[in-house]
Amino acid sequence: MNINLNQYQVWMITGSQHLYGEETLKSVAKHAKEIASGLNSSPHIPVDFNYKALVTTPGEIYQVLQQANQDDRCVGVVVWMHTFSPAKMWIAGLKNFKKPLAHLHTQYNTEIPWSEIDMDFMNENQSAHGGREFGFMASRLRKQRKVIVGHWQEKSLQEKLGKWTRVAVGWHELQRTKVARIGDNMREVAVTEGDKVEAQMRFGFSVNGYGLGDVAKFVGAVTDAEINQLIQVYEQEYTFEQVTPKDESIKEAARIELGLRAFLQDGGFTAFTDTFENLYGLRQLPGIAVQRLMAEGYGFGAEGDWKTAALLRAVKVMDVGLEGGTSFMEDYTYDFNPNGARVLGSHMLEICPTIANNKPRCEVHPLGIGGKEDPARLVFDVDGGPAINASLIDMGNRFRLLVNEVEAVSPENELPKLPVARVLWEAKPNLTIAAHTWILAGGAHHTVFSKALDTSFFEDLAEIAEIELLVIDNETKVRDFKQAIQWNEVYYHLFQNKM
Ligand code: MN
Repeated sequence: MNINLNQYQVWMITGSQHLYGEETLKSVAKHAKEIASGLNSSPHIPVDFNYKALVTTPGEIYQVLQQANQDDRCVGVVVWMHTFSPAKMWIAGLKNFKKPLAHLHTQYNTEIPWSEIDMDFMNENQSAHGGREFGFMASRLRKQRKVIVGHWQEKSLQEKLGKWTRVAVGWHELQRTKVARIGDNMREVAVTEGDKVEAQMRFGFSVNGYGLGDVAKFVGAVTDAEINQLIQVYEQEYTFEQVTPKDESIKEAARIELGLRAFLQDGGFTAFTDTFENLYGLRQLPGIAVQRLMAEGYGFGAEGDWKTAALLRAVKVMDVGLEGGTSFMEDYTYDFNPNGARVLGSHMLEICPTIANNKPRCEVHPLGIGGKEDPARLVFDVDGGPAINASLIDMGNRFRLLVNEVEAVSPENELPKLPVARVLWEAKPNLTIAAHTWILAGGAHHTVFSKALDTSFFEDLAEIAEIELLVIDNETKVRDFKQAIQWNEVYYHLFQNKM
């Protein structure tokens, strides 16, 4: 699965009006093109950033925004008011616009040319009040949009815009994501459940169930030649100490990987779940298979966790080309260290090797639960550094996206008896407050763990999806957090029918 962010377009539309005459409109268009091409060549903006139009009438505005709705390459629109664009002209266009919208509040000019400035200059460089007129109309329409303020050549502005374009691509992808829920979920588990119809209405992704027989059919069709070829890849990419690549269990793991990938490709799925309680027809719980599929860009959730699978798929699209990596994760065990309590995150097997600090080791060990043969898995540690844990939960009347900022801690100890990939982190502001507020928010034990994305990506995503966002970071206080939950309860009760 090759994800190329440059195949997606963001359109820049510049608002103006006819009051200024042809000459001014010409230089407005020239400046807009220059800004768009500057942003397009920015290393911080991964998509194809396109100057699309200068609009001066309600009809033009409506038309170009409709075109953006319909163009499959266009993932979002950035508007910029170089001059004053009376905003009643934007009502019809904005009301009917369905894709992510960003309002770039910038100005062509950098500093004021103090000795030269005259009224012509003033009339050409009116973003300062033109942007406010647009802002009023968007707010009056209750139109969700990202506002980005600063000079367009500043690195910090380009970084903000670049992150938003990544989220717009992630959102675009979510509209097409098909999640295969293989074997339903772990029985009696609550948090992996939810309203799949509401999720599809809200986020665009669909979730459908498949029997293990559907996968086993593809696993059974895998040839020995294909298996031998994949084992050569394993030998190149991983170290083998505890087992040899020739072991029967490794061959079986490779067969499962090839079969599972063929099943996903055949159905056009980009995310999936499985469960150790329902593996009929498979000899092992997929371990290395799931790990490698995640590294390729597939979303995954264990034990039927389709919400985490879909969220992970979106993040795998957003983080293309960024340093760090992203994995499915579970808060496993606490380290109540007197110098600061920490969390050891892991799963039975399924941690993505994009976060590994070194060449992973391929190992085979018994699994305490599930009653299947010993599964192959990749074992590794993770380097220290900033990271986030994100959880998408269904609160019954709304979806909530919960983010905890954490600091991963470089491995301090050998863990010779722990045969799974793992990562140690300090939760912000500390484990006492982080776990307290996470639990009050109803956050899942499963998360998307990312060293590539920061909180702002999730803020943008929540705004585009128009869902609740709760963030646990260095500023979090338990009492304020409780109040935020109560206020949000009222807010989403009032707005729950607004799609
Ligand atoms: Mn789990």
